[in-house]
Amino acid sequence: MQQQDMRGVADRLAAVRKNIEQACRKAERDPAEVTLVAVSKTHGPEAAQAALDAGQKVFGENRVQEAQGKFPALREANPDLDLHLIGPLQTNKSEDAVALFDMIESLDRPKLARSLAKAMDKLQRRPACLLQVNTGEEPQKAGCAPGELEALFRLTKEELDLDVQGLMCIPPLDEPPAPHFQFLRQRARDLGLPLLSMGMSADYETAILLGATHVRVGTAIFGQRPPPSA
Ligand SMILES: *Cc1c(COP(=O)(O)O)cnc(C)c1O
Repeated sequence: MQQQDMRGVADRLAAVRKNIEQACRKAERDPAEVTLVAVSKTHGPEAAQAALDAGQKVFGENRVQEAQGKFPALREANPDLDLHLIGPLQTNKSEDAVALFDMIESLDRPKLARSLAKAMDKLQRRPACLLQVNTGEEPQKAGCAPGELEALFRLTKEELDLDVQGLMCIPPLDEPPAPHFQFLRQRARDLGLPLLSMGMSADYETAILLGATHVRVGTAIFGQRPPPSA
């Protein structure tokens, strides 16, 4: 990454923070209630470093292996770095995920819950978890079906005693996100869960108006990602 781009990260981060503050003012919310998760996936460690230099502490990655390649060194120099897993997790990566991440936002099925519980017992480390809900009921998308949420909540919170703190969703690309955000907020209220991870570069301000406590922003901070390779 060029010097120019590093400056770009700091500038864009400042702009996103300002937008978050404005959305909070509009929603009559305290900006301290909203955590910006900087999504650094596909970008190299120098991009995350530029954000760290600009005071960003919370990062999101969607692949365990990619995060393993970047974050252990960054965390050594920044012990208060807070790393969230926001992408689908395979059960065979549970131990790696528990070892590396501080929050797992993509817990979405019983088998994964049991596997994470086992990994947490073994490693004696207990990252917080969010339950990911497939609010658009899209067949190809991760997340539990809305109709299965309550059962997943009972299993994870009551039976397995995981540290479940809230809900996460990724609305369908081709639909207005607001109804999905409203739905997620209502479900979190019903279950008594305080955290709501919703909103990305295109819609984080809308999400804040509808109660997001975590917004996951990649492109607006780090620029366009290269298209996924085949
Ligand atoms: C990539 C990703 C984001 C960030 O998306 P942008 O549109 O680049 O802000 C947020 N959440 C999840 C789950 C992602 O995979």
